[in-house]
Amino acid sequence: MMLRLSCRSSALIALVCIVPLIKAQGIVIRQAQVIDGTGAPARRADVRVVATRIVQIAPSITASPNDTVIDAAGMVVAPGFIDLHNHSDRGLSDDPQAASQVSQGITTAVVGVDGSSSWPIADWVAKRRANPVAINLLTLVGHATVRSRAMAGGDYKRAAKPAEVDRMASLVDQAMREGAIGLSSGLEYEVGSYSTTPEVIALAKAAAVRGGLYMSHIRDEADRTFEAIEEVITIAREAGVPAHISHLKLGTAGVWGKAPDAVSMLAKARNSGLDITADCYPYDAWSSTITVLVPNKQYEDPVSVAKALADVGGPQNVLVTSCREHRDYEFQNLQQIAERKGKTAVDIFIEIVRSGGASVVGKAMQERDIRYFYAQPWILIASDGGIGMRHPRATGSFPKVLGRYVREAHWLPLEEAIRKMTSAPAARLGLKDRGVVREGALADLVIFDPKQVADQSTFAEPGKLSKGIQLVLVNGTAVWRDGQTTTARPGLVITGDELLSGRRK
Ligand SMILES: [Zn+2]
Repeated sequence: MMLRLSCRSSALIALVCIVPLIKAQGIVIRQAQVIDGTGAPARRADVRVVATRIVQIAPSITASPNDTVIDAAGMVVAPGFIDLHNHSDRGLSDDPQAASQVSQGITTAVVGVDGSSSWPIADWVAKRRANPVAINLLTLVGHATVRSRAMAGGDYKRAAKPAEVDRMASLVDQAMREGAIGLSSGLEYEVGSYSTTPEVIALAKAAAVRGGLYMSHIRDEADRTFEAIEEVITIAREAGVPAHISHLKLGTAGVWGKAPDAVSMLAKARNSGLDITADCYPYDAWSSTITVLVPNKQYEDPVSVAKALADVGGPQNVLVTSCREHRDYEFQNLQQIAERKGKTAVDIFIEIVRSGGASVVGKAMQERDIRYFYAQPWILIASDGGIGMRHPRATGSFPKVLGRYVREAHWLPLEEAIRKMTSAPAARLGLKDRGVVREGALADLVIFDPKQVADQSTFAEPGKLSKGIQLVLVNGTAVWRDGQTTTARPGLVITGDELLSGRRK
């Protein structure tokens, strides 16, 4: 502060102003265990950040008088977590500080997922640049978003005609030119589910020719998961597109325990030269609309509904989290509601669908499958969460992996878990200078206590913030410190043209 005053007051003291250029005010993080994100073993080092970048990593750094010094003894310094699947698009407008996201160490998020994105992308980029948020953002363009435009008036419940597919492809091309990093699809959801595989191939091609990725919530996460995985492999091959399966899961009793089969199917495709990866969130329950339980879409057919409820292990495994027409159902499972109403769970299900639907949590994944997925270097960690989502993954995903699966259960080494949250997703996206702690890299950093870090959110309290993440820097500026957000909004919008052309598999 004194130097700045001197600069204004006298030309004579102008020489003093050179000093900040030589030793600019920075942040020195001392005595930290540096886990650099590459998978390399933790090492003791000091880290110096000036402006937006890491400028020095050394056994001991002498801080200059203007530096902010952070004693990080016993703490881990890691790259900020890069969330490949995040639903904060809308939430960020009301909550730009994104406490639920930065408190779990997220510094960069990919939005526009599951086939649904903002439109036009150019407007979204401009708006987010005019009103930045705490974290860096990238967006995909949604398949359902362009499909509902090309098949206007709600006339999307059918295969598209060739001219409509052409129209969608031109919209994808437009989105790519405006800054999207690729195409997302939600083939299990209402609009996307009516598409044929050739339609998706055509759109994935349009993204691929502009260097884009294809990220998919695949067509089925239940009994027909393997067919859905095969479809992604076909799309990757036919469109020549790098493909990524979002929130890989085996969601019904019929496919429980089959992670080795899913992995070998994908590994075979990868070995044949296709560029396919996946992510998996660390929860054994999903959250979606109640209708996804019934893949054949016979939502009012008692036989189909009964089969759907059996597939998740029974109606006690379906928790209603939001139901506009029946607020009294919220946070009760279908079994409890049925008993209270003196009806069958099948009847309750059909009543809910007829009255406008509900958001539900289905307790359906097996931990052994998640563990098997995490043992694969190319299956990464993403949250599928986001601001306001009523699922514990909205606030707890990354700390849950670090606390429960690394520290308590020893599923994977800390360095490997962090690699799956940092350099691996950075490489997948083609992000430059992020996802790694090294001199010259951008200072997206997380400092956490490896003995304390843990998720605290539950299905009853999905918004409860995680603990143990002490400090989060985005582009060199603190956004989370000592249990609260700062007022800073240093996040950047990163568009497709800013990414490296050569992505790693
Ligand atoms: Zn999804």
